[in-house]
Amino acid sequence: MIYPARIWRERHAHYRLVGVKCKKCGAVHYPPRPVCDKCGSRELEEIELPRKGKLISYAILHDPPTGYRDQAPLIIGIIELENGVRVLASLTDVNEKELKIGMEVEAVLRRINRKEEYGVIPYALKFRPIMI
Ligand code: ZN
Repeated sequence: MIYPARIWRERHAHYRLVGVKCKKCGAVHYPPRPVCDKCGSRELEEIELPRKGKLISYAILHDPPTGYRDQAPLIIGIIELENGVRVLASLTDVNEKELKIGMEVEAVLRRINRKEEYGVIPYALKFRPIMI
């Protein structure tokens, strides 16, 4: 598999699930944001989040918005990570019938099949069921 140099260099950064933790109140947010939702503090530090969690809710979009049509049906889930932080992300490698609330999932990096912009292949973190 050939990666553009920039993506190859940054692959670990892309692959990590990074959120921010508020230094003042300890709240953890994902995706990272400049201001804490809970206390308004701007003192946030990046932390790596656990890559595993369980599915607590999902929605299936049979007619996703422009730009995501090639991913139809698009499955969006709320995943509770091992540290209790909840993230909203799309699911991959699973079909509708296999979806189950409470199923164990893990973060994986997937290429998004979309038009390349500026020579950068778009990648996204998605979650897939953990095969036992
Ligand atoms: Zn805070």
